[in-house]
Amino acid sequence: MKTLKYGSEGTDVELLQLALSRGGWYTGAVDGVFGRQTLNAVRRFQASFGLAPDGIVGPLTQDALDPLLTGHFNHTVRRGDTFPGLARRYDTTAAAIAAANPEADPRNLRIGQKLIIPYGFDLVPQNVRYTPELVDYILDGLAVRYPFARPQKYGNSASGTPLRLIGFGTGEREVLINAAHHANEWITTPLVLAFAEAMLKAYIADGTVAGRSAKALLSRVKLYIAPLVNPDGAALVNGAFDRDSSEYRQALRIAAAYPSVPFPEGWKANIAGTDPNLNYPADWEEAKRIKFAQGWVSPAPRDYVGEAPLSCPESRALYEFTKQHDFRLTLSYHTQGEVIYWKFKNIEPERAREIAEAMAAVSGYDIEEVPEESANAGYKDWFIDEYRLPGFTIEAGKGRNPLPLTDLAEMISDNFPLMVTALELA
Ligand SMILES: [Zn+2]
Repeated sequence: MKTLKYGSEGTDVELLQLALSRGGWYTGAVDGVFGRQTLNAVRRFQASFGLAPDGIVGPLTQDALDPLLTGHFNHTVRRGDTFPGLARRYDTTAAAIAAANPEADPRNLRIGQKLIIPYGFDLVPQNVRYTPELVDYILDGLAVRYPFARPQKYGNSASGTPLRLIGFGTGEREVLINAAHHANEWITTPLVLAFAEAMLKAYIADGTVAGRSAKALLSRVKLYIAPLVNPDGAALVNGAFDRDSSEYRQALRIAAAYPSVPFPEGWKANIAGTDPNLNYPADWEEAKRIKFAQGWVSPAPRDYVGEAPLSCPESRALYEFTKQHDFRLTLSYHTQGEVIYWKFKNIEPERAREIAEAMAAVSGYDIEEVPEESANAGYKDWFIDEYRLPGFTIEAGKGRNPLPLTDLAEMISDNFPLMVTALELA
């Protein structure tokens, strides 16, 4: 994070405001504008940590704020400490402390022993714009709170940003949920991350998600969630991509060549101008013919199919990861339309219609066939074509992309039951 001060703006300021509000230092709007109220909150925070209360958020202040973003801090056991006592003191639960410290014996805590204390707040915020940096905080934070969940890097983006996902569950059946192939559909990232967190939280508490036992589901499946397939694109749309980089200058040139697409909010492609969901080897030549005829003949903010199938590093990485696994079912999250797509051409994998109907019933979404002009070279298309297994595109939410964060709560209430149904039927 860069040094932030009065007058700063953007997603870094949103993260700062999020951290301060989690700690109880800030009650204003999380709006990405470092104004008077944020300044006062930073000064109070600094003073209480013995830092110079200059209101400037440099490395020392950022270090002090870090636990409020990673979601936990380290505690050294003192005489009389117990899990329930620590849970009360730090507003969390004994089960959460036990989960984060699988090696610790709660009946036999030793003075001087190190413990991780997870804060009581959720790691997946619903009130900030998403960046690769925030996704890193969340994946690393989830892995500390739930050490049986494993984050993993599966490749690099066009600009070298690590592509990451998280896997958990002990079942035989592998399931993949991916989100945000398209830059301006990044709201699907908090949607699937919130689902991951809900499942993990319910797992350690013997609880349920959308009425289903998380333990039962995760003994049935091994779930992989790739929350941000196109990290550079999401950063670009949210104003968080490095403006001094050559990739950014190239994106500006690409945007200038397609003035009909609003910049940056109309950007769907990766940072180099290839649409990652038009780059899989499933009738890619047909996708190329259609998109070229529409005028998308070179790197563009959307709809450019790339130089060749899998020329887009983000698509290739997910393709390779899929090849290394044995997925029984995949969900690819996009926005918008409240629609479930379940076919590729006339290929109808066994049980795909039945699963689509069950997902439609619990979400209120419609089942449709993909319009001709976007019926090729997507992840779902390739998955169905390659494996003849159920692969779905879910177009979540309704409205104009990028959908506002105020739509997220409804997307969650529609899609948690949908995802749970997919896990049950995989
Ligand atoms: Zn999309």
